[in-house]
Amino acid sequence: MAHFIVLLGPPGAGKGTQAATICEALEIPHISSGELFREHLAKQTELGKLADGYIRCGQLVPDEITVRMVGDRLKQPDCANGALLDGFPRTIPQAQALDDLLARMGAQVEMVISLEVPPEILVERLSGRWSCPNCGRVYHEKNNPPQRSGVCDRDGTLLIQRLDDRPETVWQRIEVYLSRTQPLVEYYRQKGILVNVDGARSIEEVRQSILSILAGVR
Ligand code: ADP
Ligand code: AMP
Repeated sequence: MAHFIVLLGPPGAGKGTQAATICEALEIPHISSGELFREHLAKQTELGKLADGYIRCGQLVPDEITVRMVGDRLKQPDCANGALLDGFPRTIPQAQALDDLLARMGAQVEMVISLEVPPEILVERLSGRWSCPNCGRVYHEKNNPPQRSGVCDRDGTLLIQRLDDRPETVWQRIEVYLSRTQPLVEYYRQKGILVNVDGARSIEEVRQSILSILAGVR
């Protein structure tokens, strides 16, 4: 059976950090809509240039554009056995579009893992986040530092701080999460596929909780 899992949570909740655990356990690819937009931006595609204006000010990219981009990614052959969706869906119309996209593939969202973290912790996490522009791996200057300061452990690339992790943009993104994305918690709860995880604990504690949840999926 294909495993389509949604990782839900506010910016800084730890979705990208925990994604590898889920993808390795279920042998599925990681699809991060934010990473897809950043890849388009790095290549200076029309889509990337369009998305950049929204991303810079902490707004959501319009649903139609986002759904088309993720829909194209889901059609790739590596998604035949499922995928982990990180940062998508972020609105009710996106969630409905995902249901339609998967139905056309004869599949459905199997489980939604909702990482819950209070806003004051999110701000601290995002202001200390450093990301690898090459492989997308994330670090935190205090909580999860790389072995060599400023350099990605995996591929040696110089780490960068995302423009949208500036404090003023972070608050905007948290507000957008609360108004546009939080309603998805109820949407998926009603479908009976929501699993809440306390994301305010250490990276390892959250990882262990996720692994025990996945033991019931395999
Ligand atoms: P998201 O993908 O949900 O936006 P990230 O996985 O990028 O969040 O994590 C945001 C920042 O917080 C990163 O710097 C990461 O290293 C750090 N982080 C992630 N999970 C935890 C945790 N459980 N405790 C402390 N710091 C964390
Ligand atoms: P992320 O990497 O998930 O933090 O996303 C970075 C930014 O990309 C967000 O603040 C949005 O501007 C944009 N973005 C990512 N995913 C979506 C989505 N599903 N819908 C709309 N905008 C998105």
